[in-house]
Amino acid sequence: NYRCRSAFKLLEIDDKYKILKPGCSVIDCGAAPGAWSQVAVQRVNSAGTNAEFPIGFVVGVDLLRIAPLDGAHFLSFCDVTDQTTHTQLQELLPKAQADVVLSDMAPNASGFRELDHERLVTMCLSMVDLAERVLKPDGSLICKYWDGGLAHQVQSRLAHAFRDVRIVKPKASRKESAELYFLARFFKKNKAV
Ligand code: SAM
Repeated sequence: NYRCRSAFKLLEIDDKYKILKPGCSVIDCGAAPGAWSQVAVQRVNSAGTNAEFPIGFVVGVDLLRIAPLDGAHFLSFCDVTDQTTHTQLQELLPKAQADVVLSDMAPNASGFRELDHERLVTMCLSMVDLAERVLKPDGSLICKYWDGGLAHQVQSRLAHAFRDVRIVKPKASRKESAELYFLARFFKKNKAV
């Protein structure tokens, strides 16, 4: 039982691209109510359910409270666009590194499509900053965005930092919504970091 139907979008993307493997460390941005984290916990084995596989790590973060979940750490009432949140996340991660950064973040809809788009792009860019700070070489990122004039800013940042960037629209995402996901794989770790 998932906390939210959004779980099916991540399941669909992951079934196809196999991003979440046992033993992986995962950050889930905009995690409330926690359905993506539930999927991540199952797939990376962070609750240690399967004794034959390596044990992963999941940390979720949200502006809202996230109810506890076995196998996950949560930072409730934290803003992903805030640098101090990046530091807190990094301190929690094993070896201060992640294999996967997920984001299903979305601002509260203002009703003005352009404004909402702009705000989500700002959040995505901040989450790319976080990914560049914590991802291991060849790490992956999945990031929700709403299509619009500024999406190319996120895409070009990703294209610079990853070897493979594609746009995916899971079937579980309503056709009429402008919601899309960037899937970026094979992070090129900057030697300077
Ligand atoms: N993936 C979640 C799940 O499966 O349960 C659903 C995520 S919901 C669509 C989007 C979430 O993004 C909301 O809970 C919202 O509070 C959060 N959010 C929006 N802006 C944020 C920010 N700046 N920092 C952290 N979380 C944020």
